[in-house]
Amino acid sequence: MDKLLKLKYLYKLKEAGVEYFEGFESKDENIKMPNELEELKKICQKCTLCNLSKTRTNVVFGEGDPNAKLMFIGEGPGEMEDKTARPFVGRAGKLLTKIIENVLELDRSKVYIANIVKCRPPNNRVPTIEEAESCKPYLLKQIEIINPKILVCLGKTAFMYLLNSDMPISKVRGQLFEFKGKKVIPTYHPSFLLRNPSAKKEAYKDFLFIKKLLEETWKN
Ligand code: URA
Repeated sequence: MDKLLKLKYLYKLKEAGVEYFEGFESKDENIKMPNELEELKKICQKCTLCNLSKTRTNVVFGEGDPNAKLMFIGEGPGEMEDKTARPFVGRAGKLLTKIIENVLELDRSKVYIANIVKCRPPNNRVPTIEEAESCKPYLLKQIEIINPKILVCLGKTAFMYLLNSDMPISKVRGQLFEFKGKKVIPTYHPSFLLRNPSAKKEAYKDFLFIKKLLEETWKN
């Protein structure tokens, strides 16, 4: 069955209350992805696989060190990101940059930052399963090429679509998971922290844990 038709069918099942996350994996043999980041970016910039391509201003592919040990995965571009073609440059992005610099004591250019979907969902709504799964091959290829040791999922959407889990972020944050041999740590999305400053204390703990894991990675 055609990939998008299959996704539509699964989406309908979900609406009907059927749980299909378990065992559902996105692998699309039809899309040939290049093994080079700039080539991948060029293909991604022309993508029309889902409806988000109709309303985007720019594709926000991701940015940072192509050899980064640490990669952040957000949900999807917001207004500023859509305008500038850069991830996390709005208010939430400024907070993320501060955390990277002040808690991880790293320059933002030393990490890689990407999103589950590369095009802005209208009114910043959560990407649908169909949109996320259409876009996932790009993210998976980015992860494969960059080959980071640690993936940080920012918020529930990133964790849910990367690990096919619908656990609440409050339950999984700060815990260690695994994805294709890489360490995965979910934490709160910086937008959530802006709306709920009292959660910053927990996020701080998560980032200290991430820092420790990163230091261990450098030693090995
Ligand atoms: N929120 C996200 O999840 N990603 C961005 O790039 C910006 C805001």
